[in-house]
Amino acid sequence: MQGISKIESGAGARRGVMFVISSPSGAGKSVLSRLLLQSDPEIRLSISVTTRARRPSEVDGVHYHFIDVATFEAMRERGDLLEWAEVHGNFYATPRGPVELALAEGRDILFDIDVQGTLQLYQRMRADVVSVFILPPSIAELQSRLKRRAEDEDAVIRRRLQTAETEIAHWSDYDYVLVNDDLEKCYGELKQILASERLRRHRQPFLADEIAVLLSDLGKALNG
Ligand code: ADP
Ligand code: 5GP
Repeated sequence: MQGISKIESGAGARRGVMFVISSPSGAGKSVLSRLLLQSDPEIRLSISVTTRARRPSEVDGVHYHFIDVATFEAMRERGDLLEWAEVHGNFYATPRGPVELALAEGRDILFDIDVQGTLQLYQRMRADVVSVFILPPSIAELQSRLKRRAEDEDAVIRRRLQTAETEIAHWSDYDYVLVNDDLEKCYGELKQILASERLRRHRQPFLADEIAVLLSDLGKALNG
């Protein structure tokens, strides 16, 4: 079928969503991100660079590009970074190239970045960004998740809890706020947000032409 049905075949024509998920460390954004990336072929992860040491479970080039401070500074000076932040004494940043390419191709990009990074993306690309803040159901549960993950030393866990205070204070800078109590429920809500945001008028620029055709056909139908 011709005409309006083309709207549904908009892959490539649709403007990609810059889908930002932030949370205090341990609230569950890595797990939620992984579920989304596994189930939805239209969204890809923006792989950040970081100067932090790799955790045992992490793979270079998959979870992060692990780099040294000199490389980070060189990238920052060349303007290769879309945003950057210092978190827990380490640098984290989003490389610019892959994001610009994905948006141009109409693909969605998932960002697992902190509040500082989100605010920088707002300054540059507000219309493209959809931001979601994930809250833990309680601080006791946040602590127990950080301990259960068992990938960080006690001192590191303590520092992450201290940072959580500042991060939670920024909850109102986000477009959406979810409480990650029941993982399945929270994941369902996250998918709903993405599905709705893909349908926003400004992300379907091809609609203007389609609707002009509809109106022209309507005119012909009424006059003919
Ligand atoms: P973050 O990326 O926000 O630092 P993670 O996704 O690594 O956090 O989650 C921290 C720990 O909590 C992980 O062990 C994860 O499996 C667990 N977790 C995440 N969400 C839930 C949930 N809703 N219920 C119970 N445990 C959870
Ligand atoms: P972690 O060390 O637990 O992987 O991440 C620590 C914090 O850094 C998390 O809040 C995470 O979202 C944030 N982060 C990871 N990558 C980036 C990035 O590229 N930019 C910014 N601004 N924050 C990041």
